[in-house]
Amino acid sequence: MSKKIKVLYIAGLGRSGSTILDKILGEIDGFFSVGEMNYIWDRGLIENRVCACGVPFRECKMWKEVLCEAFGALDRIDAQKMQAFREKIRTRHTLLGLLPRGKRFLSARLGKYPNEFQRLYQAVQSITGSKIIIDSSKFPSHAYLLKMLSVIDLYVIHLIRDPRAITYSWQRKKFDPGTGIFMPTLSPLKSSLSWLAWNVIIELLWNNSDQSAKYMQVHYQDFVTQPKVIIENIVRFVGESPSDLPFISKNHVDLAHAHAFSGNPTRFHQGKIQILPDTEWHSQLKLRYKILTTLITWPLLMRYRYALAPRHPALE
Ligand SMILES: [Zn+2]
Repeated sequence: MSKKIKVLYIAGLGRSGSTILDKILGEIDGFFSVGEMNYIWDRGLIENRVCACGVPFRECKMWKEVLCEAFGALDRIDAQKMQAFREKIRTRHTLLGLLPRGKRFLSARLGKYPNEFQRLYQAVQSITGSKIIIDSSKFPSHAYLLKMLSVIDLYVIHLIRDPRAITYSWQRKKFDPGTGIFMPTLSPLKSSLSWLAWNVIIELLWNNSDQSAKYMQVHYQDFVTQPKVIIENIVRFVGESPSDLPFISKNHVDLAHAHAFSGNPTRFHQGKIQILPDTEWHSQLKLRYKILTTLITWPLLMRYRYALAPRHPALE
């Protein structure tokens, strides 16, 4: 029987710092980042977005080799069909996975779709020779799908950030050089409700006695204030030894090219990067949005020990 493939999955609502976390982990010897693998059919094959290595996805040597190894040839893949399958498992559907009958229902609904990902992750491991594959798809649904595959040994990092910072980030206009257009925005109401729902679902699915050994919470503010310590903890969490990390000081990293075709524009960053907390939201988020976000998310704010009325860090 072949050895299981270790996948380190970053789960959590977008704008939580997942892209830079993924990038740093991907620099470690034996680790390889695939970015947001759940978008491979649309953002990769159909839209042909620019890979972090600088060429369009379909021209990227690494992805061409992976797809040929997995499926024989690029033109053998029906990306539209695969994308339609992905819609059969949305975040809300994963709650069915908590019930025995629901598990069977989801399994029947997805058919052979999870096996397509099995071929992909097997091909990534074989082409890159990596021990650990990092996937920052973030969706609880994609983690659920990976958990269905017996060949995958899944480790989940639950990345959590103050929802007021997330509300602000989802409102900010950010240009994505990978698409040539601005990144999507979300209303404060929608981002707050999504933050609440996603964190509850991730905890229900992974923070329990069956899974807890392979579940780790990482708080954004811990990661950005002591990145080296957090990366060391994550490396130990997946059973590896934290030596030869890409840090040149306790909060500076040296990044090379990667192959993420989707994610925050940070995926294109390379060279020496300083990891710093982004505190702009404290002064820039409108008071009414701060109040709205706090009212919607307060149960989990308390659970994660965020202040209901946060003070600007400069005043502390
Ligand atoms: Zn590439």
